[in-house]
Amino acid sequence: MGDAAAECTIKVVCRFRPLNSAEVARGDQYIPKFKGDDCVLMGKPYYFDRVFQSKTTQEEFYNAVAQKIVKDVLEGYNGTIFAYGQTSSGKTHTMEGKLHDPEMMGIIPRIVQDIFNYIYSMDENLEFHIKVSYFEIYLDKIRDLLDVSKTNLPVHEDKNRVPYVKGCTERFVCTPDEVMEAIDEGKNNRSVAVTNMNEHSSRSHSIFLINIKQENSKTEQKLTGKLYLVDLAGSEKVGKTGAEGTVLDEAKMINKSLSALGIVISALAEGSSYIPYRDSKMTRILQDSLGGNCRTTMVICCSPSAYNDAETRTTLLFGQRAK
Ligand code: ADP
Ligand code: MG
Repeated sequence: MGDAAAECTIKVVCRFRPLNSAEVARGDQYIPKFKGDDCVLMGKPYYFDRVFQSKTTQEEFYNAVAQKIVKDVLEGYNGTIFAYGQTSSGKTHTMEGKLHDPEMMGIIPRIVQDIFNYIYSMDENLEFHIKVSYFEIYLDKIRDLLDVSKTNLPVHEDKNRVPYVKGCTERFVCTPDEVMEAIDEGKNNRSVAVTNMNEHSSRSHSIFLINIKQENSKTEQKLTGKLYLVDLAGSEKVGKTGAEGTVLDEAKMINKSLSALGIVISALAEGSSYIPYRDSKMTRILQDSLGGNCRTTMVICCSPSAYNDAETRTTLLFGQRAK
């Protein structure tokens, strides 16, 4: 194998959702035009590793974008998949979708199925230990979604100097159903503490972590891989006037953490010698699953409506910079 940096792959893909019923009722124009499978035209061309048009199904998207990462994680790599975009652009649809609907489910439930199908297909000398964590970052505070009593967890470094969220629940899981139960529970906890879930989810990052350890009882060989699945806060600019107090604090935190993420991803993509992981809590936590021996994919989620034209271009530009 080559050196760690050479092993690191960063992909940026772009996904457009369809016009929603309100947009159709309003008569909004559908504005993106597509060229080949890697270019979208919005006034000017924007290139990505892949561009997915509105009609792309959940299954097609999973097969093209996430399946390979799962395979890599099972081979001992770390990985991260992000969904980036303004509120209502399709981030949660992409990451979760309808969790218990075979056709409409998003990346996370499909990953869970694939991991267990792989495990069931392996010979019995291999023992798997899978644990999951689920937390959110809101106003730069880390809240455990599997234990609501933990509302402000610190980031520490382990003995190998790998940062991690100290004290965050790690739940051991043995079946796909147990993983899905953990997700349902976390989502439920997330919404209970807030008055408006849509507003809250547009201002906080939610992070689901799957950690997989394999041990061969014959050879005693061990292999670990972990995968972070991140539904980012909405990237939209908060109204320039009138924002004060918590709303303004939220906006500042979100801008800061998203731009820190963009800077880290583009530094990695350029192969820079200095990667500013320490500039935000999120990039610190994800450090060993972003650079080095990793698989990182950023999904740029976009609205096709003329109404969101300016915001969509800003989103596309963010994705281009990350490449
Ligand atoms: P976000 O998480 O970015 O705020 P959502 O994922 O909640 O946005 O999407 C907003 C709405 O649009 C939801 O009702 C969702 O089901 C729908 N939607 C998003 N992307 C798609 C898509 N690719 N195909 C069909 N419906 C979608
Ligand atoms: Mg969402």
